[in-house]
Amino acid sequence: MQNLKDLTLPQLEEFALSLGEQRFRAKQIFKWMYQKRLPGFSEMTNMPKTLRAALSDRASVAKLPPVRALESAAGDAVKFAFALNDPDTYYAVESVLLIDGERRTACLSSQLGCGLGCAFCETAKLGFIRNLSPSEILGQLIGMNDYQAARGDKIVTNIVFMGMGEALSNYENFMAALSIIMHEDAFNLGARRITVSTAGVVPHIERLMGEGLSIGLAISLNAWNDEMRGELMPVNRKYPIASLVDAAKRYYNRTGRRVTFEYVLIEGKTDTAEAAEALSRLLGGFPCKVNLIPVNPVDSKMSAPCDGAVQKFADELYGRGLAATVRKSRGRDVFGACGQLTAELIGSKRR
Ligand code: SF4
Repeated sequence: MQNLKDLTLPQLEEFALSLGEQRFRAKQIFKWMYQKRLPGFSEMTNMPKTLRAALSDRASVAKLPPVRALESAAGDAVKFAFALNDPDTYYAVESVLLIDGERRTACLSSQLGCGLGCAFCETAKLGFIRNLSPSEILGQLIGMNDYQAARGDKIVTNIVFMGMGEALSNYENFMAALSIIMHEDAFNLGARRITVSTAGVVPHIERLMGEGLSIGLAISLNAWNDEMRGELMPVNRKYPIASLVDAAKRYYNRTGRRVTFEYVLIEGKTDTAEAAEALSRLLGGFPCKVNLIPVNPVDSKMSAPCDGAVQKFADELYGRGLAATVRKSRGRDVFGACGQLTAELIGSKRR
């Protein structure tokens, strides 16, 4: 069975042609799958019955079953787990919906687990299990839109690829999903509403800047020198900070999008006055933003600074001319660290 949500529009057109149909059927199917979010072909009423029968025999538009949806007490976040369809092991993938004014931001996962081994990350403990397919990436979004529609709220308006995994390491599937997210007959979300986060694999950033897209880029920086960053993020041993900042500058020059540097604040380690001074030297002089994130501790060796210390660090950066913001801790009661819920669900029985 061909899962049609694994196909980009040109691929779906080829599939329609292989059934003896015309290309325009692909756009009709796109709308049913992504705008009406149908889980089967029988209700695709603008297509002949014979075609619907042929599609039912050869293809699937099944959804990812949601197994958890945990709403934060403040109503500003919902954490989801969706079941994947692996034959031997029960896997689930996590996603988060953030609610802020009129904005509904989906934080999507792109891999099951992650192989980059960042010291502050719960997902890293799972190791790399596998890449998610385009249908599994899109399935998270469809599931969130279903959830939102069922409770009479707005569907997703913005997307960040900041869930489990390194999206740019799953490049083809990420790009296929992205083409569908941006397509006017599918989710119709423009580049300004989409951001991909990377731990800093420089060739992937270069590949992305060659695509001619202007999606937002967020670089997970988290340290101001190579020794510390190498400790926190092993990927730095291959792509040190200078090469990363250089890639960020080129991304800005190519796309016109200001790059965001994500910076995890670990008490006594990354939140010092020396760090603020060094960061401003490193990032000063080109248009970028720094997003400060108090660490969500994954072990007893690290803790988050208090709110006052976080604000003081932000003020120090701001005072040195850097655009620094503190990420609001939405839904901390349901979040845990990214990857925790999956670790809990893997191997548990499907109910
Ligand atoms: S922080 Fe991101 S890149 Fe690093 S291990 Fe976790 S999921 Fe992977």
